[in-house]
Amino acid sequence: MRELDYDVVIIGSGAGGGAVAKELAPLAAAGKRIAVLEWGPKLADDAFTGREVEMARQLYFDSGGVLTKDRTLTMAYGRAYGGSTVVYTGTSLTIPEDVVKRWDVPGIEYNDLQRRSAKYIEENNVHKLEESELNDNNRLFLEGCIKLGYRAQQFPINVKGCRSSSLCNLGCPNGAKQGTHRVQLPAAEAAGVEVITNCRVTRVGERSCDAVVADPGFGLPSSWESGEVRVNAKVIVVCGGAINSAALLLRSGYGDRLPTLGRYLTLHPALILVGEHPHEISNFHGHPKSFYCDEFWESEKFLLETCMYFPFITSKNLIGFGAEHSKLMRAFGRLQMILVLAVDPALESNRVLVDRDGEPVIDYTMGPSVLDSLHRSMVASAKIFFAAGAHRVHAPAGASFFIERKDADRVEELIPRSNVIPGKISVASAHIMGGCGMGREASDSVTDSWGRVHGSPGLYVGDSGLFPRASEINPYVTVMALADRVAEHIRDNAGELLAP
Ligand SMILES: Cc1cc2nc3c(=O)[nH]c(=O)nc-3n(C[C@H](O)[C@H](O)[C@H](O)COP(=O)(O)OP(=O)(O)OC[C@H]3O[C@@H](n4cnc5c(N)ncnc54)[C@H](O)[C@@H]3O)c2cc1C
Ligand code: SF4
Repeated sequence: MRELDYDVVIIGSGAGGGAVAKELAPLAAAGKRIAVLEWGPKLADDAFTGREVEMARQLYFDSGGVLTKDRTLTMAYGRAYGGSTVVYTGTSLTIPEDVVKRWDVPGIEYNDLQRRSAKYIEENNVHKLEESELNDNNRLFLEGCIKLGYRAQQFPINVKGCRSSSLCNLGCPNGAKQGTHRVQLPAAEAAGVEVITNCRVTRVGERSCDAVVADPGFGLPSSWESGEVRVNAKVIVVCGGAINSAALLLRSGYGDRLPTLGRYLTLHPALILVGEHPHEISNFHGHPKSFYCDEFWESEKFLLETCMYFPFITSKNLIGFGAEHSKLMRAFGRLQMILVLAVDPALESNRVLVDRDGEPVIDYTMGPSVLDSLHRSMVASAKIFFAAGAHRVHAPAGASFFIERKDADRVEELIPRSNVIPGKISVASAHIMGGCGMGREASDSVTDSWGRVHGSPGLYVGDSGLFPRASEINPYVTVMALADRVAEHIRDNAGELLAP
């Protein structure tokens, strides 16, 4: 096996890894050797075709359909130069103060996270779209919420030169979305940080990690030749995303002394509903996600967001088969769409495990409170569709495939709670959090508030795995704020940590 020496190795280049890389750039500029090892490929700008099946295969783990152990939920997370930030929608929210209080991590203060979030909001060009840039899907959502008296807010998003192609979750073909692949990684590389793509880390030790470089058959070639490599480093920052960071540390044997490793996984279980309008609506262009409704966030633990997915994802997420399903898909150009997100509690039993081969297994059960939230969110969404003028609604737990407009005042009855059964409704997650949670000590957490793994000097976690509970809002800005803390700690202690 080849052996290489670095000062710092960062595993993963997504929201967390990208932020750590850029924040450590001054060390690279001062001569320290820093490498980002990224499992996924880097695609050339013209390889972002917007073609659904091709992009899903190249940019996501399992094409965005990783299944939980009991197969009741699918998870989408990215594998690429830039991680999930290549495929995220770019809605950019700061974690609310109440959530930080609920996290109850000594050393984590709202004001500190707020200040760091503001830095990334600035760095990633976050702003609200002009009214003229909003499409019908978003306008209708707002209209429905206003008619019902529900509180709706506009999402700030992180685009520069957005050309309204609505393909954000397939990787922006116009280079407009300001993920770490556009902002933090190029800045880090300019300062001397090396980013090695197609490089999967298979084991992490205290001061070294093993990796395999392999060409996936698409994307730009890796800067390292194919084969196995051992990388020695004084500091290792694990930023593989919540599932893969926990799995990597478990596979490497850290579970023996860190009993919470992999546990307290939260997913914001989500599903989509559609309302069919009598006329075409302009959803094939425009940024897909401009508004959200947080009316029920505190009382019923769910958020409603606008969304517009592509035909394959949409058809997979609608319930039913045959003629009715086909009829609804044929109405695609007339569909209004809402994504609902349930806020799930952090349970010890919801966790990442590894199988005999060291591959992640996600043991996650949607408890009664989550099913209640999903039920109430479907009822609220159906009301919004009808208030916005839809003539029929498809709700995954509906008593019938369609709820017709004449029954609009019976939605409570026509979406029975008894139909909200895991496995019978299509639930997905793109907000994967926890598994390497921050806390006080090894008995209750994996790291401290600076992302330092308890009992392993020089080993850090710097990604969404750090969340001790759900963020309760779209999480990426908070991931970057926490990664910023990790990098600051390494910078401030570089003399000691990186001493020869
Ligand atoms: C479709 C979609 C839409 C989303 N939309 C939004 C949104 O609008 N707003 C928002 O706030 N959040 C959104 N999110 C969530 C957000 O993208 C994530 O919370 C965030 O990117 C997580 O950051 P991370 O660093 O933990 O992991 P990621 O960004 O997922 O990065 C992890 C990286 O590590 C790499 N990796 C994993 N294991 C290894 C290994 N063993 N060796 C080497 N590399 C490894 C992976 O390939 C990946 O590139 C969305 C996510 C998805 C999938
Ligand atoms: S809507 Fe804007 S950010 Fe999204 S894919 Fe199109 S150009 Fe890119």
